[in-house]
Amino acid sequence: MAKHTPIRMCISCKERIKQSQLIRLQCKDGEIIKYSYKGRSFYLCKDCLNCEKEQKLVKSLQRYCKIDKDSILKMVETHKEKIFNG
Ligand SMILES: [Zn+2]
Repeated sequence: MAKHTPIRMCISCKERIKQSQLIRLQCKDGEIIKYSYKGRSFYLCKDCLNCEKEQKLVKSLQRYCKIDKDSILKMVETHKEKIFNG
């Protein structure tokens, strides 16, 4: 029997992807942080984090987190560095 692979949706591109390929984040006190295993979380795919579709990403995150665009871009940069440079 095949092992069950959880599929989750990226909030930006709405693609359904294997959970292991997604970055799990959450919004806490007006900040986007790595999921702390408490509260509501959301997923972003690496393509969206690393992309030219930045407008879309920012809009999705704004809808989700209700924080300003500059903060979002700053946090996206921080996560990108962590994810892509170890
Ligand atoms: Zn995506």
